[in-house]
Amino acid sequence: MSNTTLQAIRGMNDILPDEAGLWLWFEDTVREWLESYGYRNIRMPLVESTVLFKRAIGEVTDIVEKEMYSFEDSLNGDQLTLRPEGTASCVRAVLQHNLLYNAPQRLWYSGQMFRHERPQKGRYRQFHQIGVEAMGFGGPDIDAEQIIMCARLWKKLGIRDVTLQLNTLGDSASRQRHRDKLIAYFEGHKDVLDAEAQRRLYTNPLRILDTKNPAMQELVGNAPRLMDELEDEAIRHFGAVQAILKRHDIPFEINPRLVRGLDYYNRTVFEWVTTRLGAQGTICAGGRFDGLIEQIGGKPAPAMGFAMGVERLLALLQEYGMTPPPAPLDVYVVHQGEQAQVVAWQAAELLRDAGVRVLLHCGGGSFKSQMKKADASGAVCAVIVGDDEAAANAVTVKPLRAGEQQRVAMTELQIKIKELIK
Ligand code: ATP
Ligand code: MG
Repeated sequence: MSNTTLQAIRGMNDILPDEAGLWLWFEDTVREWLESYGYRNIRMPLVESTVLFKRAIGEVTDIVEKEMYSFEDSLNGDQLTLRPEGTASCVRAVLQHNLLYNAPQRLWYSGQMFRHERPQKGRYRQFHQIGVEAMGFGGPDIDAEQIIMCARLWKKLGIRDVTLQLNTLGDSASRQRHRDKLIAYFEGHKDVLDAEAQRRLYTNPLRILDTKNPAMQELVGNAPRLMDELEDEAIRHFGAVQAILKRHDIPFEINPRLVRGLDYYNRTVFEWVTTRLGAQGTICAGGRFDGLIEQIGGKPAPAMGFAMGVERLLALLQEYGMTPPPAPLDVYVVHQGEQAQVVAWQAAELLRDAGVRVLLHCGGGSFKSQMKKADASGAVCAVIVGDDEAAANAVTVKPLRAGEQQRVAMTELQIKIKELIK
């Protein structure tokens, strides 16, 4: 057996206790925010059939072509994939359990996603998303609601420096027309296309617009615009979304090149982007996916959703110097002696009955060394039990920041501590 310490998989991070405080605070804030808009939580498995993602996300996309962790179930040969995103699973779950039977659904989920990308700041192989999906809603009101929701979250989190980019992808007829024009245009400039673009020319030319290759920017900038092909209905829908945003003073930029990396989007798409995180500046992205439910085998129903990258959001909060709130601890219990230990345990459990957060010292040691740990723990006060206290069925309570220590009878302990920590 080798002696080298085992390491986590590249691109998959541990979140250590010092940092987890910020995660917990973030998760609480997000949950409150989602509930304030009536969205309900749903939880799906981390593993799904590979075919689900191929069908939902599209065969000719970055994710399906090169980013999925797929494997064969060694017991039965099933083709499985660690979820690279949540929308496909969420739609699968909604259909499997017939949730759209008589009511539309506002849903949210959170958790790990897996993509085999080149790890760098803000881009990992295991990362976390908060996903929000509204299914069974076709109007521009839900598009605007989701965008306005995001703006409220940024305010709640103290995030400034983000801009909203907005576009519409129209419906299938206009996309088909646009696709034909794009192919013709790129065919006329084949010498400028890189290998990836050449490969995608006939399978997914829209994705060429999403290229990050600087040598192709000019070509892409002058490409035929979907905007010029849109149906009246799609234009009206997009106009209505913008009108609601304006009514709520949400500034936005129309970005005709915003196409999103997944195939399933139509009509409204949006991204929230910051310049404070370098190249990985998109903290939240989403759009309408009216065709996806039918594509996965359901009765046609419109839908709209978005996902936030949690690591990027937290990196942004850290940019602002936001530190995790201190570990919540009210009382540190120190004790010495056999009988004292019995009383200390009783005191600790009694306090927890009253909702107090208690750390009971374990592992022995002198009073002095235990008190050092109590001081460093962040607790508001120490509860000290020695032979004297044990004999009197009492404890000594010592405030750790300011105030005098005092003897407190076990029967008074809950009340006394609650006074001290409030
Ligand atoms: P990008 O263009 O940065 O690759 P994407 O279009 O692939 O993003 P989505 O599939 O829309 O991303 O996912 C929504 C959000 O999840 C992104 O805006 C981003 O904040 C976050 N995200 C996506 N991929 C990663 C990753 N590999 N590591 C960390 N966060 C990610
Ligand atoms: Mg990506």
